[in-house]
Amino acid sequence: ASRYRGLQVLVAGAGVSGRSAAEALLAVGASVTVTDASADRLAALASLQAQGADMRPGIEEPPEGTDLVVTSPGWRADAPLLAAATAAGIEVIGEVELAWWLDQEKPEGPSTWLAVTGTNGKTTTVTMLESILRAAGADVVACGNVGLPVVDAVRAGNRVLAVELSSFQLHWQQALRPKAAVVLNLADDHLDWHGSLEAYGAAKAKIFEGNEVAVANADDEWSVRLAAGAGLRRVSFTLGEPGPGQLGVADAELVDRAFGERAALAAVSDVRPAGPHNLVNALAAAALARAHGVEPAAVAEGLRTFEPGAHRSVIIAEAAGVSYVDDSKATNPHAADAALRAHERVVWIAGGLLKGADVDGLVADNAGRLDAAVLIGRDRAEFAAALDRHAPDVPVREVEAGDDASMLQAVRLAHEFARPGSVVLLAPAAASMDMFTDYAQRGRAFADAVTSVLAENPAIT
Ligand code: ADP
Repeated sequence: ASRYRGLQVLVAGAGVSGRSAAEALLAVGASVTVTDASADRLAALASLQAQGADMRPGIEEPPEGTDLVVTSPGWRADAPLLAAATAAGIEVIGEVELAWWLDQEKPEGPSTWLAVTGTNGKTTTVTMLESILRAAGADVVACGNVGLPVVDAVRAGNRVLAVELSSFQLHWQQALRPKAAVVLNLADDHLDWHGSLEAYGAAKAKIFEGNEVAVANADDEWSVRLAAGAGLRRVSFTLGEPGPGQLGVADAELVDRAFGERAALAAVSDVRPAGPHNLVNALAAAALARAHGVEPAAVAEGLRTFEPGAHRSVIIAEAAGVSYVDDSKATNPHAADAALRAHERVVWIAGGLLKGADVDGLVADNAGRLDAAVLIGRDRAEFAAALDRHAPDVPVREVEAGDDASMLQAVRLAHEFARPGSVVLLAPAAASMDMFTDYAQRGRAFADAVTSVLAENPAIT
């Protein structure tokens, strides 16, 4: 029988992962209460109620007799309900921890977990990993922060799980022991949630507990630091020539010198979208796949058949020698830096909610590639000030924060600045929620604006 059978469990947060957690717990015979600040959200989960869950909006104390709390990754650790549970000595875990234990209980035995975290590149890396493992014939699914709750992946029974873990998910992790894991990079993001870069790093480092193979990005100081001492075996990767025990890049090929004899894995041109940051993701995915025994040929095939994700350096249009690129997913300065570095001449559309991050370094490091900057969103003044300090010759325009109309205005201005050879790049370096529901809506607004502006200005041929 399940370790959860007969337990009284409180699921905190009725989002995607909360719903899956509640369903899985009911299925193994736990008695389940679900709470959420929003009564509407709870009401949307009527099917859980039909299965016997007790729905209680907005409670601030665990109900009498609660044995365990499963919290949503969106909740802060100091939320009153979680603090009350901890004070009462009730264990608090996340949906991923629950998934780990349910996986251990499967009659056919647990699946293999290959795990990815980092500030940027997680989704790209796990989906590349999924593509590589599929090419190798494995029964794999990408899950976790990428969208499919890990609990659902475990219940579906796939033998290999390519798991994307956010720092919020890792914060609640205890038993998780992935076979192989990587921390891609670490930069300022979500510091409002974790309090400090050290606390954020400590959460990320939990991914390295109990690995057979721990993978570090040799070009990222934090990744190396967090991996030190982790795993039975440590390997790393670099964008330079690989040393012994490393994967790297040589003669326009991804090369493996960590797993067996020196082997060419794939051509640099197999990795799309092009750009150094995506080579980082490909090397990380390759390292995890190799740790699982995948042959070099499957790495190449998996990368060639990989479908790049929406809003991640996607070329929307090309007209009159100008490319229009949507990297709306660049929601923090570190991601925007990667997006900018992939191009030589850029008309940069940036701005939004900075979440406490600093854009000074980003602007200073990329001043040389900017033809112009068009600023949108609530925190645009911080961008303007940094541009003024580090790129006084770059023309800058600001657009009032608004919605699609602001985006249209921004793209019009960017179009005027663009010259043949420049890239009009949406890489906001900031979150989108001041103007849009999420980065995807922001990206769609950009694509629509590009279509309109190109229609207003037919290219002279
Ligand atoms: P995550 O899931 O961690 O948010 P994604 O794969 O969705 O990461 O990529 C988000 C954005 O981060 C991309 O659109 C790109 O701007 C940037 N990015 C992707 N990979 C990297 C990387 N390895 N290092 C830095 N930035 C990256």
